[in-house]
Amino acid sequence: MSSQDQNPQTMPDEKGFFGPYGGRFVPPPLEPPLEELTAGFLKYRADPEFEAELAREYQHYSGRPTPLYHAERYSEHLGFRVLLKREDLNHLGAHKLNNCLGQALLARRMGKKKIIAETGAGQHGVATAAVAARLGLECDIYMGEEDMRRQSPNVTRIRLMGARVVPATSGDRTLTAAVDEAIGAWVAEAETAYYLLGSVVGPHPYPLMVRHFQSVIGREARAQVLEQFDRLPDLITACAGGGSNAIGLFHEFLGDDSVRMVGVEAAGSGVDTDRHAATLTTGKPAVIHGMNTYCIPDDAVTHEGSHCIAAGLDYPGIGPEHSYLKDSGRVQYEAVTDTEVLAAFATLCRLEGIIPALESSHALAYAEKLKGTLDADSLVIINLSGRGDKDMDEFMLRLAEKDAASAAGVPGHGKGAFC
Ligand SMILES: *Cc1c(COP(=O)(O)O)cnc(C)c1O
Repeated sequence: MSSQDQNPQTMPDEKGFFGPYGGRFVPPPLEPPLEELTAGFLKYRADPEFEAELAREYQHYSGRPTPLYHAERYSEHLGFRVLLKREDLNHLGAHKLNNCLGQALLARRMGKKKIIAETGAGQHGVATAAVAARLGLECDIYMGEEDMRRQSPNVTRIRLMGARVVPATSGDRTLTAAVDEAIGAWVAEAETAYYLLGSVVGPHPYPLMVRHFQSVIGREARAQVLEQFDRLPDLITACAGGGSNAIGLFHEFLGDDSVRMVGVEAAGSGVDTDRHAATLTTGKPAVIHGMNTYCIPDDAVTHEGSHCIAAGLDYPGIGPEHSYLKDSGRVQYEAVTDTEVLAAFATLCRLEGIIPALESSHALAYAEKLKGTLDADSLVIINLSGRGDKDMDEFMLRLAEKDAASAAGVPGHGKGAFC
């Protein structure tokens, strides 16, 4: 449990509303399985045996606690002290497993035999397939046909771990199709199947439950910074797609008024273009995917290709608690462009010998903007949500594009080289 679970500022009401955001906006057939899930979660969340079981999995399967690493050369570069929360060192290379382990253990406690999940870029599908294998549960991963083609190594990983990949063929044959078809399958099999959602989004109880399982990040980080530096950080920051690694870091610090928090979104090619995923920076509240939250209207962005360089941040909504924290002003949200992200990515590689995920590099790109605004003994925690080995192809592609652009003398390219 987190100390913040007693803080009324951080708890949704019993219908899952954080202020006006969140809730449960679903067709009637989804109500009973979501009610059953809410009851199961609330029961086991408070069960010390369940907590101990999860703690064992975090330690022995995932390799937690992850280090809070004082990046000295990177600190020197930025002009203030930077601590990286190394979620990239989890099994499978990202924070996603924290949530998947929690929910899979819950599924088993609830007597479910099968896990259903949808995946876009495939990372959540891989983490879900892994925990299903670990616990001996049957597993169906729904994936848009188009995404299966684009993300074929993840399809292979999922199959290797014994899960079935179900191609979603409706509509745009990407994430929306996969969500629709996976939910349909869950309603049909709710008696025996568990729906495992990958971020702090969707209808109640998912935003609350996924936060609960990801808040291990901030719980560890807070204890580690107190132990290593004997004080709280001045600022903590994380990238936000759906918002689970960000809320996972922030949650435990929400009661510490002296700690500034910044969530970083993907501005893609720029927030004034039609290729970005900067939900809180540019969007407005509406109902999407079963919740009320800020989202980017359909006609504001193009649906061809990706909106930003990091597939894991390419989501038109955001967790409802982030909408609430934006309005209340407790958390500040900023957006950084692909170009800024690539530069920050390369800087960390070169100065620390750590290849960060392009998603995580959004938080690094924001830190670059703090240069000159903080004094030398300021303490900043950056959540390194994942490792970047998966992003080598994307990086090489962008590098080639950039070289081509600068050779052709395209203005705005070829400056501020990132390698
Ligand atoms: C999936 C992913 C994200 C985005 O998801 P959140 O729910 O916003 O945390 C960020 N970083 C990495 C490495 C990811 O794999």
